[in-house]
Amino acid sequence: MTYSLCRAIFLSGWSYVYNMDDSQNSLSGSAMPYLTLAEVMRRRFGCRVQKLSVDAGFTCPNRDGTLGHTGCIFCAGEAFVPSYCRMAGSITRQIDEGIRFHQWRYRKATKYLAYFQSYSNTYAPLEVLKARYGEALAHPQVSGIVVGTRPDCVDDGKLDYLASLANEHYVAVEYGIESCYDKTLRLIRRGHDFACTERAIRATADRGLPVGGHLILGLPGESREEMLAEADILSSLPLDSLKLHQLQILRGTELERQWREDPASVPPPFTLEEYIDLVCEFLRRLRPTIAIERLAGEVPPRYQATPDRSWRRPSKESTRTLGGALLRNEDIPRLVVARLQASSAAMGSGSSSPKE
Ligand code: SF4
Repeated sequence: MTYSLCRAIFLSGWSYVYNMDDSQNSLSGSAMPYLTLAEVMRRRFGCRVQKLSVDAGFTCPNRDGTLGHTGCIFCAGEAFVPSYCRMAGSITRQIDEGIRFHQWRYRKATKYLAYFQSYSNTYAPLEVLKARYGEALAHPQVSGIVVGTRPDCVDDGKLDYLASLANEHYVAVEYGIESCYDKTLRLIRRGHDFACTERAIRATADRGLPVGGHLILGLPGESREEMLAEADILSSLPLDSLKLHQLQILRGTELERQWREDPASVPPPFTLEEYIDLVCEFLRRLRPTIAIERLAGEVPPRYQATPDRSWRRPSKESTRTLGGALLRNEDIPRLVVARLQASSAAMGSGSSSPKE
């Protein structure tokens, strides 16, 4: 992504990714056929907890030249960052602005976690990390931190420090897993293998820290069965929560360049129905104690290289699936829950097939 496009996206509004997980809070916990992170946090804190994205000014080894300059082929950098956390403001100011924003949008949240989201938030000397996490934890309304990072950007010293912070605060680590297959990690130019991911997850869990992961469904070269088998692989790891994302071809990325050069080399984005079907099957195979934080996320059509495939556009499929309405945040979990419930009802009534 060019700097100017990054900046245009960064400054043009608060939400570049439709967060299709917030809506899980509005679905009844007891009715959910899978565990949600919102429910886990409600049990732990006794109230609704809101993550506040923070851009703490870190970079990543895949962009600063250590491993590469262009980043993972799907990455559009700031396209995923809310505007209230521009680095123009201090961490404290970003948190203040985030609280103001979320108090207006989600009045039910009474506790907040600073979410170090942008780039790789353990990719700096320990002293720098201490200062930046410390600033967030010093905020009177912040109950803890969630640190998003790459698996190759943690070591014993950093994890020990995070574990020491966890004596006083809530501290969780989220890893960009993206794929469980080395062939895919090479293809997307990730710069580390899956063994590195496994080591980081185990080392984090060994210290008693909650561990989350992000996985992309639909990456080039992965079959449906391989994607579903990732549910089995992740279930065998000490993972506490998971965010699922569907692959999108974003403007300005290396993925877009490859797709324009050779459209057959990049799988077309999922239709909504294909994705719901895949996610339901994935959830059936996933260990039920892994809490789901997000099932999907979509950038607005204007940032997609394939806007005609956007789930947010009126189409024959949206007419069929949503009765003609445009997709809203709560629709993805609602559709997934309805599909899973219909499936288990069918099985309970003697259907021989678990598939819808
Ligand atoms: S590691 Fe993360 S921030 Fe760095 S290029 Fe890959 S997706 Fe982008």
